[in-house]
Amino acid sequence: MARVKIKTNNNKDPRRKFALLNILSSNDIYPTNIIIVQDGFVIISSDEEQEKIFQDSTKQELLQNDFTLITPPELKAKRTVIAFNINSHIYSNSEDDMINELYAHNTWLDNNIDTIFKFPNSKTIKITFTQAIYAQKAIDHGLKLFSMKIPHYQIQQEKFYQIQTCYRCYEIEDHLTKHCPKNQDYKVCPECAEEGHTWKHCNKEGKKCINCGENHRTLSMRCCLRKDGIKKKREEEKNRGTYSEITKMNANPINITTPTPLITREEHLKIYSCVMNAHFMNVSDPGCYEKELNTLLADNNLPPIKISKTPNSSKLLAMIVDVEKHAGKDIGEASASADSTYQQETTNNNTKQQQETARKKKKEKGTKKLDSEDIDLEIYTKESKGWPENITLGQLIKGIEEGNYKFTNRESTLEPHEVLGLMKKGDMILGECLKVIDDSIFRKIRSGQTQERSPPSRQPQRLRKKDLK
Ligand SMILES: [Zn+2]
Ligand SMILES: [Zn+2]
Ligand SMILES: [Zn+2]
Repeated sequence: MARVKIKTNNNKDPRRKFALLNILSSNDIYPTNIIIVQDGFVIISSDEEQEKIFQDSTKQELLQNDFTLITPPELKAKRTVIAFNINSHIYSNSEDDMINELYAHNTWLDNNIDTIFKFPNSKTIKITFTQAIYAQKAIDHGLKLFSMKIPHYQIQQEKFYQIQTCYRCYEIEDHLTKHCPKNQDYKVCPECAEEGHTWKHCNKEGKKCINCGENHRTLSMRCCLRKDGIKKKREEEKNRGTYSEITKMNANPINITTPTPLITREEHLKIYSCVMNAHFMNVSDPGCYEKELNTLLADNNLPPIKISKTPNSSKLLAMIVDVEKHAGKDIGEASASADSTYQQETTNNNTKQQQETARKKKKEKGTKKLDSEDIDLEIYTKESKGWPENITLGQLIKGIEEGNYKFTNRESTLEPHEVLGLMKKGDMILGECLKVIDDSIFRKIRSGQTQERSPPSRQPQRLRKKDLK
């Protein structure tokens, strides 16, 4: 169930309530409850209907009738993306110019940007769309503007950190409502902080927070305790990670500037260099990892270490290169690390790395088949044609050979015939790679053409190809 707050005047007049319900039902939204609150109404409805209320048409109609929707933060996060590390050619423009450019070069956006916010000195922008589907499309496909592109891997969903709240006593991060230790008849008002009545029956003018005592609603995001809670969660997420993830994060130069409490920065760098060097040696002379590492550690006055199983260094290095490439970082960014928004960006980034690593690990354990995701395989059909409801592998291959479907494999050095060969042999896991594309774009694709391939970097590609076999 979802709660949506709608602000309006004269909410005590029953005609206003009828007017609101009329607008909602004419937009196919049927609330299960409507509650009069001090400055408007609260609508209780299903999650799907909550999304519907925030559709542009409904929102406009409500606004024309003096009903202002208050967007709940979790919904706002779903409709918001963070684009980080964007090129200064894009970042140097004003927010309004960015909106105009986005509309001009991403026709699917169709006036659905709500706001754009530039985080100062961070190369990071936040874009809020009118609906979650636009945010998702930006995350999947990237955004074009000022004759450039923000690639999909530099766009992430805004994180929403839920602060656990008991809706009886309003204590935060302590217990669920159903486990509230207060008496059955306990009542407290989150609007004015007084006991004896609930928010439904509050008629006090001023606001007061039960938790911090300041002049705001208890559930307000302005609450310092809530802000602290979110900050803590963000930190926790940042610090989560296994040894291997930490090693990988350190492959990213930015993280080296972060002081580590247990060891000095120099030691940190030394250990990291020893580990990496041992991996390199292990690639050329497989099996020598432990011996090499301990020689290097001893040479640098560091304690020895026992390794029970020699790691697969080629695989590991290929993964690091891959993760780094996706993170799209450069060392010049380090200067901005003091900025708090930048920290948020790094957090998101690391999470993406962790997810990617987890995904890869899962895959390694499983089948030896190649996953379409590994090579960023996308198979397209024309928008005017669409995909049949069911399609067999044979039909798919026939369609490709006849030119009715086309494909791209951005993340690999595999030739088109090799990709097709793998598909024919059934050695390719075809995940969610079937896409529908605008007819005009479809015409321009040549099967197997790697669109927007990054400049060749020979070693990583060779390693990755080796890894695939
Ligand atoms: Zn409670
Ligand atoms: Zn009250
Ligand atoms: Zn507070």
